[in-house]
Amino acid sequence: MTRFTKITASIGPSSESETVLRQMILGGVNVFRINFSHDVGQVQGKKIDSVRRISQKLGLPVGIMVDLQGPKHRIGNFATEEKYSISPGQTFTFDSNPEPGNSWRVNMPDADVIASLKVGDRILLNDGKIEMQVTDVAPGEVKTKVVRGTEIWSRRGFNLPDTEIITSVLTQKDRADLEYALTKNPDWVAVSFVQRPEDIAMVRDFITERTSAPIKIMAKIERRNAVTRIAEIASAADGVMIARGDLAVELPFEQVPAISRQIIRECRRLNRPVVMATQMLGSMVENEFPTRAEISDVANAAYLRVDSTMTSEETTIGVHPLKVVETMDKILSFADMDAIEHFNDWVRTENAPENDWSRSVSSMAHLNHASAIIVFARDTDSTMQISARRPDVPIVAVCDNNLVANQLCLLRGVIPVYTPDLFALRDVNAVAKMTAIKPGKLVIVDGDEVSLRDHN
Ligand code: PEP
Repeated sequence: MTRFTKITASIGPSSESETVLRQMILGGVNVFRINFSHDVGQVQGKKIDSVRRISQKLGLPVGIMVDLQGPKHRIGNFATEEKYSISPGQTFTFDSNPEPGNSWRVNMPDADVIASLKVGDRILLNDGKIEMQVTDVAPGEVKTKVVRGTEIWSRRGFNLPDTEIITSVLTQKDRADLEYALTKNPDWVAVSFVQRPEDIAMVRDFITERTSAPIKIMAKIERRNAVTRIAEIASAADGVMIARGDLAVELPFEQVPAISRQIIRECRRLNRPVVMATQMLGSMVENEFPTRAEISDVANAAYLRVDSTMTSEETTIGVHPLKVVETMDKILSFADMDAIEHFNDWVRTENAPENDWSRSVSSMAHLNHASAIIVFARDTDSTMQISARRPDVPIVAVCDNNLVANQLCLLRGVIPVYTPDLFALRDVNAVAKMTAIKPGKLVIVDGDEVSLRDHN
């Protein structure tokens, strides 16, 4: 059975040993996410080195996505580590005073946040369990009314769904992390808490000032204002992650499935890969088997034709990282084949004129019952466009560039094959054999030329 939907797995304490990483690759992981919210650069660098070493030994391209923490906001400290009582209706103040907090006030370390808040804006703390509404703003101080919540304690994270924050998408920590990560040649850099297309341009400038490698940028959509500007942000970036964790705090949670569909549609129209993230197999952090609802969530992501699903805690701190990969692989493989057989939608993608040729390639494969599309890929462009049409056959991308092969690992239906010499791999029969493509017709894309060939 061929799996079209890719698996991106986050690495953490449960999965960072070379033995587990190797088994995860063999079990079907296509891309590893290294989350810089945890651990310092050097520790993360070791994980990147391990993945590269194993991937090379196995001769299997694997993508590496470095995920920057971004401007995740946190309140300051309280006098003790205990929880402090608050009650709905009371006033609670956030200020620039560094004194420890109490039940009536706490320090807000980020001056940009205090300066950006307006009367009426909501402050959602601790994944939305506490809600406060701004009633008064003054220099260095914001007064709020507690709407929901009974306890508050040190360093809680918070979201501001109604506020555009005039702050850089790259914090000091992100700059240091990215500077270091670039020395490790990542394939993708994921940018957290993107608000506008300019945020992506800024990260791209940061990268191009330091390396000539065309590293791809993934915009994590987790803020309300990023949803509003999704087309511009997706165009500026090279891929999009639907970060449902923060998104479901910033927006009414019942809207997240509809917004996810809207993001997937935009990404397909704009030829950008899209990753569905967060709690896909959440209960497997502890349990050996997924819930029925999780099985459906993973399968639905395949039916929605995302490029990749992603694991977070399931593979970072979960007790069964390998079982998680095996479970995801099983669900996606079945759903992908079922989607092709019963809900084939390669014909009804987007009408952007630049997509015409890639639609033709997909329809040529479909109408000729081809067993694969083979692309001789000097860069990612053609493969990215064809993959975004969601053809119903695998796309084998033969590339002579490791970065291109690794980046294509994330794309739906794409089997990247690395060769140091593109001309040496001109024999499409050999390519088909190597990738276990069944005998039949092949659509070959080589530069501007598209042709049909038989292989046996
Ligand atoms: C999310 O918020 O859903 C997400 C993927 O981001 P992170 O894991 O960095 O919080």
